[in-house]
Amino acid sequence: MPKAFLIDTSRCTACRGCQVACKEWKNFPAVPTKQRGTHQNPPDLTHYNFKLVRFSEHMEDGTVHWNFFPDQCRHCIDAPCLAASAVPGAIIKDEASGAIIYTAKTVKEDFASIRSACPYDIPRKDPKTKQIVKCNMCIDRVQANLLPICVKTCAMGAMNFGERSAMLKLAAERLVTVQRTFPKAQLLNKDDVSVIYLVTDAPATYHKFAVADASDAPGMTRKEMLAGAFAPLRKIAQSVQG
Ligand code: SF4
Ligand code: SF4
Ligand code: SF4
Repeated sequence: MPKAFLIDTSRCTACRGCQVACKEWKNFPAVPTKQRGTHQNPPDLTHYNFKLVRFSEHMEDGTVHWNFFPDQCRHCIDAPCLAASAVPGAIIKDEASGAIIYTAKTVKEDFASIRSACPYDIPRKDPKTKQIVKCNMCIDRVQANLLPICVKTCAMGAMNFGERSAMLKLAAERLVTVQRTFPKAQLLNKDDVSVIYLVTDAPATYHKFAVADASDAPGMTRKEMLAGAFAPLRKIAQSVQG
């Protein structure tokens, strides 16, 4: 059964425990950075930061809003990065979990093509190894029946992980509850991704790439790209499976 995350931002306190746990589990070194007057640090995802708690502050109706967004790869159902891959075996899908995995063969990929194919701007390149890297769903832990370390670490219940059907059910239940307090609450691209975000405000107030249709991809929105451009591939795969 495919897995999924539910990231309930209404419960996130921006403690960054998930961000640090991801680095620790993967034994990634610190990335040189500097204080820029914001809670978000480092400024963006890097080859050593597969998880980043984004922080957005904005004024609305005279009130300050702080929006927290623990960003990571969405493990798309029909992953555009996988469809854009030109190197066999470089980007693969673990059918059991639904995880999209980047292998050492990504050194032969065109990084710009892979990154621009991603509606959420996730892939990064390791300047030393030349590999393209990102969150791998903690596949080593998941295959050992353990939770991804970012989920295990979250004390607030913002990070959830399990069977996709269970996460969709939980997402629907939480949405009803959260909408009582936050009428704008919504689930982001839930039918297209394995990492479903529940947000309480307009997606653009969190991050430019929070939702697939928040981009300015030429000719079509990224959501249209997800839903349309790769739909023929999905149909071919379905017809092959019978
Ligand atoms: S560990 Fe949980 S509460 Fe803390 S930043 Fe991550 S998602 Fe938010
Ligand atoms: S979020 Fe981006 S990197 Fe992750 S599976 Fe989807 S297209 Fe690929
Ligand atoms: S699933 Fe694992 S690799 Fe992905 S963001 Fe969470 S801790 Fe990092």
